[in-house]
Amino acid sequence: WLCGVLAPPELQEKTLVLVKPDAVQRRLVGNVIQRFERRGFKLVAMKLLQADQGLLDKHYQQLRQKPFYPALLAYMTSGPLVAMVWEGYNVVRSTRAMVGDTDSAAAAAGTIRGDFSMHVSRNVVHASDSVETARREIGFWFQRDELVAWESGDQDYTYGP
Ligand code: GDP
Ligand code: MG
Repeated sequence: WLCGVLAPPELQEKTLVLVKPDAVQRRLVGNVIQRFERRGFKLVAMKLLQADQGLLDKHYQQLRQKPFYPALLAYMTSGPLVAMVWEGYNVVRSTRAMVGDTDSAAAAAGTIRGDFSMHVSRNVVHASDSVETARREIGFWFQRDELVAWESGDQDYTYGP
Protein backbone atom coordinates (compact mmCIF):
# COMPACT_ATOMS: atom_id res chain seq x y z
CA TRP A 1 0.00 0.00 0.00
CA LEU A 2 3.03 2.28 0.10
CA CYS A 3 3.78 1.30 -3.51
CA GLY A 4 6.91 -0.51 -2.40
CA VAL A 5 8.90 2.68 -1.85
CA LEU A 6 9.35 2.02 1.85
CA ALA A 7 9.27 -1.56 3.05
CA PRO A 8 7.67 -2.38 6.41
CA PRO A 9 11.02 -3.06 8.12
CA GLU A 10 12.16 0.46 7.23
CA LEU A 11 8.97 1.91 8.67
CA GLN A 12 9.37 -0.17 11.82
CA GLU A 13 12.85 1.03 12.78
CA LYS A 14 12.82 1.74 16.51
CA THR A 15 14.86 3.80 18.93
CA LEU A 16 15.05 4.26 22.68
CA VAL A 17 14.56 7.75 24.04
CA LEU A 18 15.02 8.53 27.72
CA VAL A 19 13.68 11.78 29.14
CA LYS A 20 16.28 12.08 31.87
CA PRO A 21 15.62 12.99 35.52
CA ASP A 22 16.53 16.68 35.07
CA ALA A 23 13.89 16.96 32.35
CA VAL A 24 11.23 15.31 34.52
CA GLN A 25 12.03 17.75 37.36
CA ARG A 26 11.95 20.68 34.93
CA ARG A 27 8.53 19.59 33.54
CA LEU A 28 9.95 19.12 30.04
CA VAL A 29 8.46 15.67 29.42
CA GLY A 30 5.54 16.95 27.37
CA ASN A 31 7.72 19.20 25.25
CA VAL A 32 10.07 16.33 24.38
CA ILE A 33 7.21 14.00 23.50
CA GLN A 34 5.57 16.68 21.38
CA ARG A 35 8.66 17.08 19.22
CA PHE A 36 8.71 13.41 18.24
CA GLU A 37 4.94 13.29 17.80
CA ARG A 38 4.75 16.27 15.49
CA ARG A 39 7.66 15.00 13.40
CA GLY A 40 5.47 12.02 12.63
CA PHE A 41 7.12 9.27 14.63
CA LYS A 42 4.97 6.66 16.31
CA LEU A 43 5.10 6.10 20.06
CA VAL A 44 5.12 2.34 20.69
CA ALA A 45 6.11 2.14 24.38
CA MET A 46 6.40 4.51 27.33
CA LYS A 47 6.82 4.35 31.09
CA LEU A 48 7.92 6.47 34.05
CA LEU A 49 10.38 4.69 36.29
CA GLN A 50 13.16 5.08 38.79
CA ALA A 51 16.25 3.52 37.19
CA ASP A 52 18.66 1.53 39.35
CA GLN A 53 22.40 1.00 39.00
CA GLY A 54 22.02 -2.50 37.52
CA LEU A 55 19.97 -1.20 34.62
CA LEU A 56 22.26 1.79 34.05
CA ASP A 57 25.40 -0.36 34.17
CA LYS A 58 23.96 -2.28 31.21
CA HIS A 59 22.67 0.77 29.41
CA TYR A 60 25.97 2.65 29.76
CA GLN A 61 28.31 -0.36 29.62
CA GLN A 62 30.64 1.50 27.21
CA LEU A 63 31.07 4.34 29.72
CA ARG A 64 31.64 2.42 32.93
CA GLN A 65 35.39 3.07 32.92
CA LYS A 66 35.02 6.82 32.32
CA PRO A 67 35.95 9.18 35.16
CA PHE A 68 32.52 10.81 34.98
CA TYR A 69 30.63 7.52 35.32
CA PRO A 70 29.89 7.90 39.09
CA ALA A 71 28.48 11.37 38.39
CA LEU A 72 26.45 10.00 35.50
CA LEU A 73 25.03 7.25 37.73
CA ALA A 74 24.13 9.76 40.46
CA TYR A 75 22.40 11.96 37.86
CA MET A 76 20.48 9.14 36.23
CA THR A 77 19.28 7.72 39.57
CA SER A 78 18.45 11.13 41.09
CA GLY A 79 14.76 10.82 40.27
CA PRO A 80 12.30 9.23 37.88
CA LEU A 81 12.84 9.27 34.15
CA VAL A 82 10.60 8.51 31.22
CA ALA A 83 11.60 5.71 28.86
CA MET A 84 10.02 5.63 25.43
CA VAL A 85 10.32 3.68 22.20
CA TRP A 86 9.65 5.64 19.02
CA GLU A 87 9.20 4.01 15.63
CA GLY A 88 9.46 5.20 12.04
CA TYR A 89 11.58 5.63 8.95
CA ASN A 90 15.19 6.47 9.89
CA VAL A 91 14.03 7.13 13.43
CA VAL A 92 17.50 6.51 14.91
CA ARG A 93 19.27 9.09 12.75
CA SER A 94 16.42 11.59 12.89
CA THR A 95 16.15 11.36 16.64
CA ARG A 96 19.88 11.90 17.13
CA ALA A 97 19.59 15.01 14.96
CA MET A 98 16.63 16.24 16.99
CA VAL A 99 18.45 15.61 20.28
CA GLY A 100 21.57 17.52 19.23
CA ASP A 101 25.24 17.31 20.09
CA THR A 102 26.44 15.64 23.31
CA ASP A 103 28.25 18.89 24.14
CA SER A 104 25.36 21.20 25.00
CA ALA A 105 27.23 24.29 23.89
CA ALA A 106 27.68 22.74 20.45
CA ALA A 107 24.07 21.59 20.19
CA ALA A 108 22.25 23.59 17.54
CA ALA A 109 19.36 25.83 18.55
CA GLY A 110 16.17 24.00 17.71
CA THR A 111 17.51 20.69 18.98
CA ILE A 112 16.34 19.46 22.38
CA ARG A 113 19.76 19.95 23.97
CA GLY A 114 20.31 23.19 22.09
CA ASP A 115 17.04 24.51 23.48
CA PHE A 116 17.07 23.11 27.02
CA SER A 117 20.54 22.05 28.17
CA MET A 118 23.53 24.01 29.45
CA HIS A 119 26.01 21.20 30.14
CA VAL A 120 26.77 17.58 29.25
CA SER A 121 26.12 16.52 32.85
CA ARG A 122 22.46 17.61 32.62
CA ASN A 123 21.51 17.06 29.04
CA VAL A 124 17.79 16.27 29.22
CA VAL A 125 17.55 13.27 26.88
CA HIS A 126 19.14 10.07 25.68
CA ALA A 127 18.69 8.63 22.21
CA SER A 128 20.22 5.42 20.84
CA ASP A 129 23.12 6.00 18.45
CA SER A 130 22.55 3.16 15.96
CA VAL A 131 19.90 0.66 14.95
CA GLU A 132 21.87 -2.12 16.62
CA THR A 133 22.40 -0.12 19.82
CA ALA A 134 18.69 0.70 19.84
CA ARG A 135 17.75 -2.97 19.62
CA ARG A 136 19.97 -3.77 22.59
CA GLU A 137 18.92 -0.76 24.67
CA ILE A 138 15.20 -1.35 24.11
CA GLY A 139 15.77 -4.85 25.49
CA PHE A 140 17.30 -3.41 28.67
CA TRP A 141 14.40 -1.04 29.35
CA PHE A 142 11.33 -2.87 28.06
CA GLN A 143 9.80 -6.33 28.04
CA ARG A 144 8.73 -7.53 24.62
CA ASP A 145 5.04 -7.30 25.53
CA GLU A 146 5.39 -3.65 26.56
CA LEU A 147 5.84 -2.66 22.91
CA VAL A 148 2.53 -1.97 21.19
CA ALA A 149 2.14 -2.49 17.45
CA TRP A 150 -0.53 -0.20 16.05
CA GLU A 151 -1.57 1.28 12.70
CA SER A 152 -1.43 5.06 12.51
CA GLY A 153 -4.16 6.64 10.38
CA ASP A 154 -1.89 9.38 9.01
CA GLN A 155 0.71 7.03 7.58
CA ASP A 156 0.04 7.76 3.88
CA TYR A 157 0.32 11.48 4.63
CA THR A 158 3.48 11.12 6.70
CA TYR A 159 5.38 9.00 4.20
CA GLY A 160 3.62 9.57 0.88
CA PRO A 161 2.33 6.93 -1.50
P1 GDP B 1 25.13 10.91 23.96
O1 GDP B 1 25.02 9.68 23.11
O2 GDP B 1 25.08 12.19 23.17
O3 GDP B 1 24.15 10.94 25.12
O4 GDP B 1 26.60 10.91 24.61
P2 GDP B 1 27.54 9.71 25.12
O5 GDP B 1 26.99 8.38 24.68
O6 GDP B 1 28.94 10.05 24.74
O7 GDP B 1 27.43 9.84 26.70
C1 GDP B 1 26.29 9.36 27.37
C2 GDP B 1 25.92 10.32 28.46
O8 GDP B 1 26.96 10.38 29.43
C3 GDP B 1 25.74 11.77 28.03
O9 GDP B 1 24.47 12.02 27.44
C4 GDP B 1 25.90 12.49 29.33
O10 GDP B 1 24.72 12.37 30.13
C5 GDP B 1 26.99 11.68 30.00
N1 GDP B 1 28.30 12.27 29.75
C6 GDP B 1 29.08 12.17 28.64
N2 GDP B 1 30.23 12.84 28.77
C7 GDP B 1 30.19 13.38 30.02
C8 GDP B 1 31.10 14.18 30.78
O11 GDP B 1 32.17 14.55 30.33
N3 GDP B 1 30.70 14.54 32.06
C9 GDP B 1 29.51 14.13 32.59
N4 GDP B 1 29.21 14.52 33.85
N5 GDP B 1 28.65 13.38 31.91
C10 GDP B 1 28.97 13.01 30.65
MG1 MG C 1 25.42 7.68 23.56
